[in-house]
Amino acid sequence: MKVLKFGGTSVGTAKRIRDVAGLITERGKNIIVLSAMSGTTNTLVEIADYLYKKNVAGAKETVNKLQAKYEAVINELFDNEAFKARAREALSANFDFIRSRGKEIFTLFEEREILAQGELMSTALMALYLEETGVNVKMLPALDFMRTDKNAEPDSDYIRIKLTALLESVGDADLYLTQGYICRNAYGEIDNLQRGGSDYTASLIGAAIGAEEIQIWTDIDGMHNNDPRFVEGTKPVHRLHFEEAAELAYFGAKILHPTCVLPAKLNNIPVRLLNTMQPDAEGTLICNTVSKGGIKAVAAKDNITAIKIKSGRMLLAYGFLRKVFEIFENHRTSIDMIVTSEVGVSVTVDNERNLNHILDDLRKFGTVTVDRDMVIICVVGNLEWQNCGFEAAVVNALRDVPVRMISYGGSNYNISLLIRKEDKVRALRLLSENIFK
Ligand code: ADP
Ligand code: ASP
Ligand code: MG
Repeated sequence: MKVLKFGGTSVGTAKRIRDVAGLITERGKNIIVLSAMSGTTNTLVEIADYLYKKNVAGAKETVNKLQAKYEAVINELFDNEAFKARAREALSANFDFIRSRGKEIFTLFEEREILAQGELMSTALMALYLEETGVNVKMLPALDFMRTDKNAEPDSDYIRIKLTALLESVGDADLYLTQGYICRNAYGEIDNLQRGGSDYTASLIGAAIGAEEIQIWTDIDGMHNNDPRFVEGTKPVHRLHFEEAAELAYFGAKILHPTCVLPAKLNNIPVRLLNTMQPDAEGTLICNTVSKGGIKAVAAKDNITAIKIKSGRMLLAYGFLRKVFEIFENHRTSIDMIVTSEVGVSVTVDNERNLNHILDDLRKFGTVTVDRDMVIICVVGNLEWQNCGFEAAVVNALRDVPVRMISYGGSNYNISLLIRKEDKVRALRLLSENIFK
């Protein structure tokens, strides 16, 4: 059995839902994970924002607009009037639920309940459409098996046990359907796996059932060698190692959510990235085998802050780095990049939540400088140090771009460079022009 996940754009219109229905029916008995229709989760976030601000009129207008959008989808999707009526009734319950929230108090709890409606609605529409076309589809409600623990990490044992039991109890089917992104937390409340988290759902399900393969279906033919939103002429990379994919996903390649990699890697389940609009395209296969090929792809991560600590105390001393890292640990902030010299250390972080506290503590050890609005450019491939030339190619491509930090050697798979935000697009283009000619 495989797990096939379809993202928001893949189910973003009535036509797309029909296309996906055809595609999944042809591929046999698998577990299908759906995101919300594109734009829906953003709209639900907007509704929650209105309710936080007690702007009931704003929330109401936005809910009505969203419902009208779904009404149009229902009219186009179904041929049969009875199915249209069933779909309308099913989705009315979701919209009534959204309207019922925020009447009195509005907290994170109500917000999460609202955010869960997108995936509940897309799967309800797909299930009814499959039924209309004569497919025996069985729903596996994510809220019945997907759960996080007290540390907000997925509870793999619970997920495996519950999902296995659920698959047995629903009985035989042509295919199984479930919601991405949504889950319950350790207290049984409705929660989610963070934005973009449907990829994580697919991977967790794949790991729970020991799937043959996890497929992430989206609007592009696999992981490209550069960010197609900023660079023209990018090309798909057909093979990646899990580590390479993890680096690219973490450092900005939006096609894959970074959390998706680990469950698949630990259980040695290949992940394939495929294009819903071009189902026969090869896409990208991510697995545990290293393929040759030097530099394979680049990605960029925004909103990075660099912090430099310069200290005479570091000279010939031991324990200095531990003290520095402890400060970040105490303030629950993870470090992305590190470079050290004999008299100083520079690190980067991707959020400034606790920055002021961190800086206060660091100042006890030396002079601290901060550079904001930076970007990490991540160059990925099979980059073992014995092979010559790849560092030179990267540095040469970026010879006219000011580089604040360079890091290589943490793994065999990546070189990271820290540059200014305003140089990002130019740097990505220069890397493509020079390296992927
Ligand atoms: P979905 O809604 O299916 O989860 P996403 O929008 O999350 O889709 O991811 C697909 C998008 O990722 C593509 O449309 C593309 O613009 C963007 N993207 C960014 N970097 C890359 C890359 N290196 N390769 C492919 N797509 C990328
Ligand atoms: N619908 C959610 C989002 O937009 C989850 C996902 O699409 O992966 O973030
Ligand atoms: Mg996505």
